[in-house]
Amino acid sequence: MVLRKSNENHRGVKPGSAPRRCDLKGLSLSQTEEWAVRHGLEPYRGRQIRHWLMGRLVGSPHEMTNIPKTVRALIREKAIINPLAQVKTLRSEDGTRKYLFRLRDNHLIESVLIPERDHLTLCISSQAGCAMGCRFCLTGRQGLKRDLHPSEIIEQVILVRRSLDNPEELRNIVLMGMGEPLANYEAVMMALRNMIAEDGMNFSHRKVTLSTCGLVPEMKRLGHDITINLAVSLNSADDETRSSLMPINRKYPLKTLIRACREYPLPNRRMITFEYILINGVNDRAQDALNLAKLLTGLRAKINLIPLNAAPDSHMSPPPLERVLHFQEILVGHHFTVVIRKSKGRDIMAACGQLTGASATEQKGAS
Ligand code: SAH
Ligand code: SF4
Repeated sequence: MVLRKSNENHRGVKPGSAPRRCDLKGLSLSQTEEWAVRHGLEPYRGRQIRHWLMGRLVGSPHEMTNIPKTVRALIREKAIINPLAQVKTLRSEDGTRKYLFRLRDNHLIESVLIPERDHLTLCISSQAGCAMGCRFCLTGRQGLKRDLHPSEIIEQVILVRRSLDNPEELRNIVLMGMGEPLANYEAVMMALRNMIAEDGMNFSHRKVTLSTCGLVPEMKRLGHDITINLAVSLNSADDETRSSLMPINRKYPLKTLIRACREYPLPNRRMITFEYILINGVNDRAQDALNLAKLLTGLRAKINLIPLNAAPDSHMSPPPLERVLHFQEILVGHHFTVVIRKSKGRDIMAACGQLTGASATEQKGAS
């Protein structure tokens, strides 16, 4: 097995050295065609290979039946087409499934498949760990191990889709797993483009959502570069509380963040989703709800209230249900669409903020 070294770029090429094995799922259509040409093939072979990998979801060159055997051997020798190994899958009582994947350098990441009424939603990771240090989040506690490559981001979708009886059932993708997607901007952008490209995985851009803790400059770039849904983890409408929960608020305080939301180029009839984790005695008073309503006035906003999933050793806890309902009532009274998001998969540590890759550690060595 050839491991990618840290100073190689996303195409598996070390600057200044001869090309090594190229990570094909991290390329655009034109880059895949260029790869084919560099290896003495017609560009259409690149298109065919891409279609096998992202459309037909094959896991081995052997299955690419319209590709000559010599070219299949070339792919095996010169390319990487399996950037992740599936370690295991955990199934929750409520039908949620957590997939544990191992990267080629042995870090572990997780994706969560959530059953909805008539379709499935997949929550994927953008980094191994996270550097943002939000106090309520288990992923944040482990710090950043490394950014994921574009191929490692999209491969989560490919492997999960391939594991389904009906791959078409998977319709929604949310970047709400491990990591801060906008802190890994270029790789996330390439993966998103391949997810929604017709010649890629062909997901509707209406069904793809990126969630951020509020990296303002990258939010601006995102709105300019691609049309997908945006979710912002808000968690408080006052700077003091938000800064105590989310260190990023010291760099981009609410005024800056909300201005970026107001300027975000939203397509017609779309809204920004604001996620608000409710924490007992911290941000769940009636006054907090009123502050939130005021902060979001005039924005096309949908609010997701998420009662905290408390870490086992945390001194923070979720509020009692009646307080959650009262908080919702106040916001509805101010004409917001407010959903209380029931966390699924808690029994397998697959709920929001519980993803650490830790449940796979005892499986090291398995593949
Ligand atoms: N880094 C991005 C996306 C990953 S976190 C972000 O912060 O938006 C995805 C969501 O999980 C965020 O909305 C975050 O607020 C939420 N979350 C994190 N820890 C949680 C916890 N302990 N309980 C409930 N939700 C949590
Ligand atoms: Fe990172 Fe998001 Fe967790 Fe904050 S909530 S530490 S940004 S993954």
